[in-house]
Amino acid sequence: MRSELPPSFLKGLESAAGHGRLLTDPADLICYGYDASGYESCPGAVILPETTNQVAEILSLASKYKVPVYPRGAGSGTTGGAVPSPAGIAVVFTAMNQILEINPGNLTARVQPGVITGHLQQAVSEFGLFYPPDPASLAFCTIGGNVNTGAGGARAVKYGVTRDYVLNLEVALASGDIITTGHATAKDVAGYDLTRLMVGSEGTLGIVTEITLRLIPAPEASGTALVFFPDASSACRGVKSFFQNRILPRCAEFFDKTSIECIEGLLPVSVPSGGAAMLLVEVDGPESSISPQLDTIIESCADSGALKVVRASNNNEAQAMWRARRGLSPAIRKLGYTGKVSEDICVPRQRLPDAISKIEEISSEFNTRIIVFGHAGDGNLHVNLLFDINDAGAVKDMEHAVDALMHMAVALSGTISGEHGIGLSKRDFMKLGTGTASLELMKGIKKIFDPDGIMNPGKVFP
Ligand SMILES: Cc1cc2nc3c(=O)[nH]c(=O)nc-3n(C[C@H](O)[C@H](O)[C@H](O)COP(=O)(O)OP(=O)(O)OC[C@H]3O[C@@H](n4cnc5c(N)ncnc54)[C@H](O)[C@@H]3O)c2cc1C
Repeated sequence: MRSELPPSFLKGLESAAGHGRLLTDPADLICYGYDASGYESCPGAVILPETTNQVAEILSLASKYKVPVYPRGAGSGTTGGAVPSPAGIAVVFTAMNQILEINPGNLTARVQPGVITGHLQQAVSEFGLFYPPDPASLAFCTIGGNVNTGAGGARAVKYGVTRDYVLNLEVALASGDIITTGHATAKDVAGYDLTRLMVGSEGTLGIVTEITLRLIPAPEASGTALVFFPDASSACRGVKSFFQNRILPRCAEFFDKTSIECIEGLLPVSVPSGGAAMLLVEVDGPESSISPQLDTIIESCADSGALKVVRASNNNEAQAMWRARRGLSPAIRKLGYTGKVSEDICVPRQRLPDAISKIEEISSEFNTRIIVFGHAGDGNLHVNLLFDINDAGAVKDMEHAVDALMHMAVALSGTISGEHGIGLSKRDFMKLGTGTASLELMKGIKKIFDPDGIMNPGKVFP
């Protein structure tokens, strides 16, 4: 064992989780020392529990030795939330990846935290059921990670986010106690809503060991279209117009000019000349409602200046459109910049055009290339700032641009993070994002759950 953690602690961990479930070899640890944020730091050890009781025992030991605990799903978070430190242990849920029950009569699913989101969606679809939250990372992220970041996705505009589907949770606390938050019922007002408190808590309050999710019947059909516009403001007008015409699509994704250029090769259609903004819209419902809904969207977009509309004529074409959307983040990385910071501000929907034009101003004021795409239907923009990491001036410019972006979001009555969470990268903006009084209250809540500060320390709080 080469870890610097106390040998008696490591021995205790191994006997808690079983032989072969403790990793201390540096070659293993390196696999758990990063996420999608760019932050890197290896844990002192990795433990792979199989049961809730094992998790509780691990936490009890960590409390006794005052060793930091870093829960980790798939490590796809974009803020450093799952990045550990050598002084602590990463708790990883690859051995707790079972779908325990799908109950079509109760419209619920009970799962362990390590279940991959896309696997759950596939499994419930075989019962004619639907789990709507669809982060673009659904092929590899976990439900445990989704719950703890409060993940969203393209369908949030109609169906809401992970938070709206969590009925109750089993949680192992820092003390080693196991609690159940609320009940797996459609209604529950017995006391404070601890389930909602846990959702989005980024592993700072406890370890989620089991999750009961609400399901809904799968919609009968869906229809997908790409709409090209000459500029971002006409795309925003298009979104406003189809809402005003009382159509609520399940997705309305926005792409700026550079985003379109990045995925042009992946798009199943050609970009029209002058196309500098794009919407990917999807509607669902009874089969007979699909065409009329798309007709209204297309008319609304045409009235707002759309240049070209392409309806997917079958599921394969729709899937190709979504593959292009999901390929966007990796495509941005291929632009060749050594530095990329992804922010995910969210503003009230009607402020979206203001936000997009202010981002253009921030880009030129701070000489930083910015690519914007995201969930136009719910005002949540992914703002990607690109720079050369070895150029100190460019890094400073990027930092000023991020600061201006956060202040702009708050000034437009929005939030500093719509779905990615705070982690390490946004913790210094928490006071701006929540206000001093709320932040102090949150710190007090953390102290009650985690008096010794061992749960994912350094995350969320400045
Ligand atoms: C290409 C790409 C696309 C993405 N698209 C989206 C998107 O559309 N919408 C969106 O919301 N996000 C998106 N993300 C971000 C990321 O996928 C989500 O934040 C996701 O919820 C993280 O899940 P994970 O399993 O990877 O968790 P991790 O990154 O491993 O962990 C995330 C946080 O949850 C905590 N945690 C994990 N499991 C537990 C547990 N059992 N108990 C307590 N705490 C725990 C960790 O400590 C950490 O703070 C994207 C990321 C990438 C790389």
